[in-house]
Amino acid sequence: MLDDKDRIFTNIYGRKDRSLAGAKSRGHWDGTADLIKKGRDWIVQEMKDSGLRGRGGAGFPTGLKWSFMPKESDGRPSYLVVNADESEPGTCKDREIMRHDPHTLIEGCLIASFAMNAHACYIYIRGEYIREKEALQNAIDAAYDDGLLGKNAAGSGWDFDLYLVHGAGAYICGEETALLESLEGKKGMPRMKPPFPAGAGLYGCPTTVNNVESIAVVPTILRRGASWFSSFGRDNNKGTKLFAISGHVNNPCVVEEAMSITFEELIEKHCGGIRGGWDNLKAVVPGGSSVPCLPAKIMREEAIMDFDWLREQRSGLGTAAVIVMDQSVDMIKAIWRFSAFYKHESCGQCTPCREGTGWMMRVMDRLVKGEADPSEIDMLLDVTKQVEGHTICALGDAAAWPIQGLIRHFRHEIEDRITHKRGGARPAVAAE
Ligand code: NAD
Ligand code: SF4
Repeated sequence: MLDDKDRIFTNIYGRKDRSLAGAKSRGHWDGTADLIKKGRDWIVQEMKDSGLRGRGGAGFPTGLKWSFMPKESDGRPSYLVVNADESEPGTCKDREIMRHDPHTLIEGCLIASFAMNAHACYIYIRGEYIREKEALQNAIDAAYDDGLLGKNAAGSGWDFDLYLVHGAGAYICGEETALLESLEGKKGMPRMKPPFPAGAGLYGCPTTVNNVESIAVVPTILRRGASWFSSFGRDNNKGTKLFAISGHVNNPCVVEEAMSITFEELIEKHCGGIRGGWDNLKAVVPGGSSVPCLPAKIMREEAIMDFDWLREQRSGLGTAAVIVMDQSVDMIKAIWRFSAFYKHESCGQCTPCREGTGWMMRVMDRLVKGEADPSEIDMLLDVTKQVEGHTICALGDAAAWPIQGLIRHFRHEIEDRITHKRGGARPAVAAE
């Protein structure tokens, strides 16, 4: 459990002054130049020691990712790109940072860019975030006016420019290489990896793409020390983390907590419990729409909210967008909604995703209505396995996994609906 004094985001609820003066009064921009003067190697090593894993969903170790950037320039500029294209259904944590605590991000951009030898950083913000874009741009302007950005940024001796770029509303532009294509003025379509962005990223130059939260926590980690940050959570799952909790809880919210908090504590402490009580809990999507749902019986048995525990349950922490569903939810319809989303957002450049998302959505549509043949349940499972791992980017997996979770845990609901529709006995279908 996290004390207030250990929270990195001091204004996540927006109750305090979000201006530069307000941010400074809460300790942000304190000794920034001194941190930078400790040098690149020190910063990267601290980030490695902190155990921070990327907060955009994949959980790749941040310090390790930074270490892939060339230490010396080969004539090409290096770039930091911040992925603020937060579009994963259920996910709204970066929005709160940019609205209410923008200086955590701006200071992080300066320090991280210095550590990666970058004189320029681009923040790519999702098209629908209009007020957040204004809030962030105002904060960037105030930082320039105060000498914290620009030439000799914050008195560090490092020249640094920060640009805010507004997306046009395509979910796929949150995929890091599609984002780079879009930044370059092209259609946002994912590139094949490798090469990873550190080798050839923006305009073919060394680039690191990091999530908003990953960058916003950097200054505090460096000020308080890697060992402070890594004192929260479990091995391989360190630090504090923003959780965005929505759905059937009494008080949906975005909250910073210690990694590896139990699900029960998270919900009781911050959300006032489950609507209608714990016996009314049906399922949870613990990490945004890309990860499989888990049934109440797994989430009630001391569920640990971190990367490794949720992976062991064949789900994931993802973006830590926790979608809570009570007994009133039609699980098939809920997952069908995700299927429709992924079909709509597929960029269409690879066949398993372009065709597979359409197939999956159409079968899900029949399952919702109970109009499918019982054999289609296994056929659908098979289609998800043909899509998973066979596409250019993770959108294919993201479309497949929620359906796999539905069949794994709620197969009986699908079968019962088909039976009911046919007015007969429960169909005999093989288990997964
Ligand atoms: P990924 O595992 O392919 O990569 C994660 C990061 O690590 C990337 O920056 C990648 O370049 C880097 N990386 C991985 N392997 C590397 C290597 N061998 N060498 C160098 N760098 C390497 O995952 P991804 O496709 O970037 O992200 C998928 C995740 O995004 C999903 O888990 C999902 O939860 C999340 N997601 C988030 C949102 C959101 O709104 N925040 C939206 C959609 C998806
Ligand atoms: Fe495009 Fe889907 Fe292929 Fe990703 S997996 S590149 S979204 S078609």
